[in-house]
Amino acid sequence: MFIGHFALGFAAKSVAPRVSLGTLFMAAQFIDLLWPTLLLLGLERVRIEPGATAVTPLVFEHYPFSHSLLAVLGWAVLLALVYGVFRRDRHGAVLLGALVLSHWGLDLLVHRPDLPLLPWGDVRLGLDAWSSLPLTLALEVPQFWIGVWLYSRSTVARDAAGRWGLWGLVLFLFAIHGVNLFGAPPPSVQAIAWAGQLQWLLVLWGWWVDRHRRALAPV
Ligand SMILES: [Zn+2]
Repeated sequence: MFIGHFALGFAAKSVAPRVSLGTLFMAAQFIDLLWPTLLLLGLERVRIEPGATAVTPLVFEHYPFSHSLLAVLGWAVLLALVYGVFRRDRHGAVLLGALVLSHWGLDLLVHRPDLPLLPWGDVRLGLDAWSSLPLTLALEVPQFWIGVWLYSRSTVARDAAGRWGLWGLVLFLFAIHGVNLFGAPPPSVQAIAWAGQLQWLLVLWGWWVDRHRRALAPV
């Protein structure tokens, strides 16, 4: 699941107009932003096995700190608290916490049963939509376009950067999704981890676009 998480970030703007799109992206994708660093530190493990699922060649062997439900709950509370304290925006804080949690819920739909419930123990869940490419596309692609549509109708461009920056971002995300699904498997775990770090640029891009658009009142 990739653009599905960004879809919820886009969609959330329609209910939290004060929160920047960059911050919404960061929350929706928070545990996948942590994961590359945990891989590089050797605290979490993934294996590349072409054909492991119909969609992704990645086998998630061990990721208790980023992707166990209990840890995700902790990250959600932490992010909500930090945002709430610094921004004095309780509504935004609650929404960001919910977005962090939503990541686990969306991953649950697509992953094989590899998502731990607790950082320790053997209970792992996953509904395995990745066993079918058409099913994965049917879940994620409409979700993405609905999210983009909600964002575009709850904000208006202030200038050309706000207009074209948004469509550039949308097309770029869609293109990455295509490469993830149809490109060659990544050459190494190191390559996955460093490419994963580049997702921070998507957060910055979202933040930049949002500064060039004006939020309309929620309808
Ligand atoms: Zn994830």
